[in-house]
Amino acid sequence: MLSADLPWLQAPLADALARARSHALLVQGPAGVGQLELAVRLAQSWLCESAAAGQPACNHCPSCKLFASGTHPDFQMLLPEALEAPARESLGLPFEEPDAKAGKAKPSREIKVEAVRNLLAFAQATSARGKAKVVVIFPAEALNGVAANALLKTLEEPSGLLRFALASHDSASLLPTIRSRCQPLPLALPERSAALAWLEAKGVKDAAGLLDATGGRPQQALEWAEAGLTDAAWQAIPKRVARGEVAALSDLAPPRVIDALQRLCHDLVRRSHGQPGQFFAPAALPSPKRAAPLLAWDAELRRAARHADHPLNAGLWIEALVAQAQAAVTASVR
Ligand SMILES: [Zn+2]
Repeated sequence: MLSADLPWLQAPLADALARARSHALLVQGPAGVGQLELAVRLAQSWLCESAAAGQPACNHCPSCKLFASGTHPDFQMLLPEALEAPARESLGLPFEEPDAKAGKAKPSREIKVEAVRNLLAFAQATSARGKAKVVVIFPAEALNGVAANALLKTLEEPSGLLRFALASHDSASLLPTIRSRCQPLPLALPERSAALAWLEAKGVKDAAGLLDATGGRPQQALEWAEAGLTDAAWQAIPKRVARGEVAALSDLAPPRVIDALQRLCHDLVRRSHGQPGQFFAPAALPSPKRAAPLLAWDAELRRAARHADHPLNAGLWIEALVAQAQAAVTASVR
């Protein structure tokens, strides 16, 4: 059943249902731990026609059945175009395969004002089933400025039975006017044992290493494992990169290349200050003596991260990043 397979969300869901005082909640915290699932589960619970107020959705009533089939008339999700299919797939909702027709523009990572305008029509209509109407917005930071402004009035004074569940990985970047209209709902990293049990049940081998690699974010660890990354390959990255081996990263998608290098840089800076790494095992990391070259490298990685979605030539781009990494690591261990 819908998103019931993230067991660590049960307690935050119960808490959210019990504490919700506002018509708009903002789930916030790190990515990769189930923010969207929590927001959607909240929506389902608010719409459920059998659960008592403040209780999670029953999964059996007519409303829950409509919800699970993706056809609930009182539910809308506002997602960037690029996330529509993957988000619906991971929620177990019906979705259309992205249209890969030649000449079609790359799907947007922003939530645009047209989408908000369509939503306003839904917001003004009467609730079809009479219980509530719910809008999930994910990730809220994807609302561009015009879209966010178009949403403000409805978010502040929603008509009738309308409720909002927003979710954000980066709530600091939201317009303050959006943030101030929402009741915050922090979602922390799950307990390590719960995250490991979940990954192992999904068939991930050496789950502990990948969970550490992602900083404790089980959904991200699963995504990496499904993309073919193993713990052994991850732990080999620091030393291979220090030798200038481009192949250490060439199987990763561009945004993951940046992720990996940023985590390596972070761990090396910690090591240079005598602290253990967070993402790589101790034996995997070189022993830097100086932080300065690493800090300069970190700044370069931040710049590169802005283009990580579509580098012009991924091969050359990774080569340049590995050369940069090798130079920084070499300078730091001298
Ligand atoms: Zn129900």
